[in-house]
Amino acid sequence: MFQQTHAQKRNKKDKENSSKEVTATPKKDKEKTIKDLVKSSKEIDGLFKIYQDTITGSIQMLISEDQIGKEYIYFSQIADGVLDVGRNRGSYRGSKVFKINKYFNNIEFVTQNTSFYFDPNNPLSKSKDANVSEGNMASLEIEAQDKEKGLYLIKAGNIFLSETLSQIKPASRPGASSNEFKLGNLDKAKTKINSIKNYPENTNLEVEYVYSSPSVSNGGSNALADSRNVSIKVYHTLMAMPEDDYQPRFDDPRVGYFTTEVNDQTSTSSTPYRDLIHRWNLVKKDPEAAISEPVKPITWWIENSTPLEWRETIKNAVLQWNVAFEKAGFKNAMEVKVQPDDATWDAGDIRYNVLRWTSSPTPPFGGYGPSFVNPRTGEILGADIMLEFAHFTNRVFYDKIYDLASSVEEPVDNSNNYKSDQMYCSLGQRLQNETMFASAVASATGATDFEMERLKKESMMALIMHEVGHTLGLNHNMKASYLYSPEQLADADFIKGKCLTASVMDYAALNITRDRSKQGQYDDVAVGPYDIWAIQLGYTPFKSEDERQALLNESTKPEHIFGNDADDMRSPGKAIDPRVNVSDQSNDQIKWAIDRIELSNDLMKDAKAKFTKNGQSYQELRRVYYLLSGQQGSAANTISRFIGGVYVDRAMAGQEGATQPYTPVSLKDQKRAMAALSKYVFAPNAFDAPNDLYNYLAMQRRGQEFFRGPEDPKIHSQVLAYQKNVLNHLLHYNTLQRITDSELYGNEYSLSSFMTDLNNAIFKTDINGNVNSFRQNLQLEYTNMLIDMLTGKQSDKYDFNAKSMALYNLKTIRTMAIPSGNISSKAHKEHLRTLIDNALKEIK
Ligand SMILES: [Zn+2]
Repeated sequence: MFQQTHAQKRNKKDKENSSKEVTATPKKDKEKTIKDLVKSSKEIDGLFKIYQDTITGSIQMLISEDQIGKEYIYFSQIADGVLDVGRNRGSYRGSKVFKINKYFNNIEFVTQNTSFYFDPNNPLSKSKDANVSEGNMASLEIEAQDKEKGLYLIKAGNIFLSETLSQIKPASRPGASSNEFKLGNLDKAKTKINSIKNYPENTNLEVEYVYSSPSVSNGGSNALADSRNVSIKVYHTLMAMPEDDYQPRFDDPRVGYFTTEVNDQTSTSSTPYRDLIHRWNLVKKDPEAAISEPVKPITWWIENSTPLEWRETIKNAVLQWNVAFEKAGFKNAMEVKVQPDDATWDAGDIRYNVLRWTSSPTPPFGGYGPSFVNPRTGEILGADIMLEFAHFTNRVFYDKIYDLASSVEEPVDNSNNYKSDQMYCSLGQRLQNETMFASAVASATGATDFEMERLKKESMMALIMHEVGHTLGLNHNMKASYLYSPEQLADADFIKGKCLTASVMDYAALNITRDRSKQGQYDDVAVGPYDIWAIQLGYTPFKSEDERQALLNESTKPEHIFGNDADDMRSPGKAIDPRVNVSDQSNDQIKWAIDRIELSNDLMKDAKAKFTKNGQSYQELRRVYYLLSGQQGSAANTISRFIGGVYVDRAMAGQEGATQPYTPVSLKDQKRAMAALSKYVFAPNAFDAPNDLYNYLAMQRRGQEFFRGPEDPKIHSQVLAYQKNVLNHLLHYNTLQRITDSELYGNEYSLSSFMTDLNNAIFKTDINGNVNSFRQNLQLEYTNMLIDMLTGKQSDKYDFNAKSMALYNLKTIRTMAIPSGNISSKAHKEHLRTLIDNALKEIK
């Protein structure tokens, strides 16, 4: 909460003023002047004049009469933190508008609500404050004033040294384990101001918050020197409201910009949105010219921490966006400079947009491109890009490989308590995984050093273009990879010099051909056609609304396909259009995914020979094994999304080239997906690896690390996890409900056919004979899932049609599972029968 409780405020004041209050009674006689109170302080002039006491370091702030009643922008950024609590260097914490008010003898800092619009000509606008809460962050007593000059002095420690302006310490998550690492309490005695930088347009403070706890049960990661005393450094920026001629631009569902959502409360429309897209204030030097340089270009600084050998590639990647800006009428809209080694500014200075590098102990992302905006207009005021060195190495984060394959969504931090512009981008992490896979394929098939180098360069370019795209206002486009056919991607000449998809804003898989002689470009080296169109929509100085509408109507062109994170199907049961997905490629994803699985299988056969090096441990082989099976798991998810899938078209009614909004996936493709899952995911030999490979999947010992758990490879549970991911989608209540509903509007793969096919895929080939250990796991897991549909915690979410089919399948399994085959298979079948018999008794 921003509002300090009264009691907190009291406490703080009591402490600060305790010595003063004793002598404060005869105050009337000798009222202190501003001059008296700042006499031992250093004056730091800027937007808000600050005085810092040269002995105690305490700060006071001067507010002038003309600042009262005015709006300002507040923005904060983590200067340095710890990942244990999700506070990492460079992460932006959103911006908000606040107003300075004077209430009797107090100065108030009040957050403004920017979510609503009232047409000022509508009488309703008179009630615009009804049921809308402002946030009074702080109310501070005026310590001294100069009536003539209209100046008020307040103690600023109250604002900056506590969490007044924004919440720093994360709230504990509901359901969090009690042994999770937690920050102690804010230790006001240790919390301090590290620097004050004041400019005419903004006031910046770096504050080091210290959280202390006398004892901790979980010591956190080794990034913490002392887990009882943890520092989080935060930049606070107070900014004058820009007074320029910036024209807000409104959002459209057909293109993907970050937005600040605003509701028009005086509109009668069913879509009363005035959502502001986030964009830079780019203005032509010569407004009449078709193509002009901007008055002020968007300047990027390559931080001096950037490895030398990558600077040229990075610069080249940023400048690729100029191709898009030229189509929007701007020449040299982007420029790139290198931060000198002796620069006196650092990346925390919001006046500089910086491409930054870190090598964090546990990297949170591989690239992150946040920007901060004026919430009143959507104008982007600053941006940075954070890059993680780890993602250009072969360091493996096993837990993350699993996360990526299991399509877990990235957590979104909402602890800011205000509308946040930030979003997490996991492209770097995904790209590292893909690049490692591509390198494994390339090196196993004898690629030259030159080719390996090219692969690295291309993925670096793709990553930088993507993150820069975020800072220009673009959000993800997870449909972009649907542009080209597998044949086009395997045509080196066709793909040369292009973006491999419609947009660099996708999380597309790398282009790796199974036929190695056809290998062309691995990743994007240019921005895509969608990117160019999107930049045109966001930045062209349109002469009229008709001109903008005409360009928007080009959304039906195949190269302008768009669907963002909310539309993508990475998580089981989420979204509906299988074309919108992550870690996939081409306009035939089923074919592509099969190809990827076969490529992994090919490599698995020779892995031991190719990835064992004399004189080295087997860690590298283990890494490759996890990488390959992870690819299989991820490709399996891609295929599964076609079952029950519905294609979405977001074109407006009457738009040229538009189709109906909802079209179910054809019976042919759903059947094709089912056949592929049956063969590559559920079949008894689906995850076969040469048996002698398992003897070599050894981790290199380090200290006492195996105390954490036995080191042997957990082969069965890993395979089952991949199979379960697929079943989690296929048997999700959303998927089953959609199959039944869409039978009404074109779906020809009925629920009964699908559920019968699935049952057969999991039982038919071996239920009458020996069932191997992988299949025993799969069959029991699946049977338990059917039982859960009927009696589990979530059973009330399933419709009756789905429940009936679950019951029907259980009875079929009961009939099929006649004990036969070897002892292990007999035991397995008895187990199945017992589970089903017990479940049937519970069903009412
Ligand atoms: Zn991204």
